[in-house]
Amino acid sequence: MCISGDIHDAYVEYQEELVEAGLLIPLGVKGVYGRSGTFEHIIDQFENYITRNGAQFQAEVMRFPPIFNRAHYERIDHINNFPDLLGSVHSFTGRDREHMEMLRKFEAKEDWSRDLNATEVMLVPAACYPLYPTATGTLPADGRLVDLETFVFRHEPSDDPARMQIFRQREYVRLGTPEAALQHRDYWLGKSRDMLASVGLDVTPVIANDPFFGRGGRVMKATQLEQNLKYELVVPICSTEKPTAVASCNMHLDHFGVAFDIKTSDGQVAHTACVGFGLERIALALFKTHGFKVESWPAAVREILELS
Ligand code: ZN
Repeated sequence: MCISGDIHDAYVEYQEELVEAGLLIPLGVKGVYGRSGTFEHIIDQFENYITRNGAQFQAEVMRFPPIFNRAHYERIDHINNFPDLLGSVHSFTGRDREHMEMLRKFEAKEDWSRDLNATEVMLVPAACYPLYPTATGTLPADGRLVDLETFVFRHEPSDDPARMQIFRQREYVRLGTPEAALQHRDYWLGKSRDMLASVGLDVTPVIANDPFFGRGGRVMKATQLEQNLKYELVVPICSTEKPTAVASCNMHLDHFGVAFDIKTSDGQVAHTACVGFGLERIALALFKTHGFKVESWPAAVREILELS
């Protein structure tokens, strides 16, 4: 991706300020950080705000770890569309002789990683992916609504502090009829916009196009745009020309219903939709907008986020 010098400088500048303030702890790899107690507190409080806003729907709460079944990964199109972002977990599965050979390479500072083998797990690329394989079968008459949160991985090392390689997504996922999925997406598009605006973030909804990979990706991108499948709420963090997506509202049509044989109670292939909040990005947008001293944030924002 081509990034102009000014924007790149703005990324580095904000990242250095966050590190200086102790909010992010650099780990020597682009886009991978520890978080301070203050940073985590803001994420907790924003999550509680999401929970309060979703409480009326009585979603099933489920939490999945940030790794999932490789066989399930192979049933979604991620490897076709985003091979450059995927994360695969490898380990050593050899015996003594192979171990000696790997250690020899390690000591000689050669590439020892080729002596590893793929395990049965992949890193989770989106919070809702581990859910669908567990939903195989027939949904209840009203479908299902599930509340999820996990760390997700995307291999896109960047100086932009808002483009982390591993970060948390909080989601509400609807599984049901096409109408129910569309209604969920549209409800949360309005609701998430109101929620973000109420904490002082100047968000704009945009029809999004994901960074589909390669030649085939251009077709995917055109289809996604044409069908209005994905909206993102963007807010300026480091740059007004290149605002950052802090939430997205996604229609998957019958993609996961087909892949994992999920049916509505009347036997149709289920449709799914999700709203996802990028928690680290929301915290970074709040710190950028209101400053690093949480006690000096506007009273209205402090009240909404219950920052006593
Ligand atoms: Zn999702």
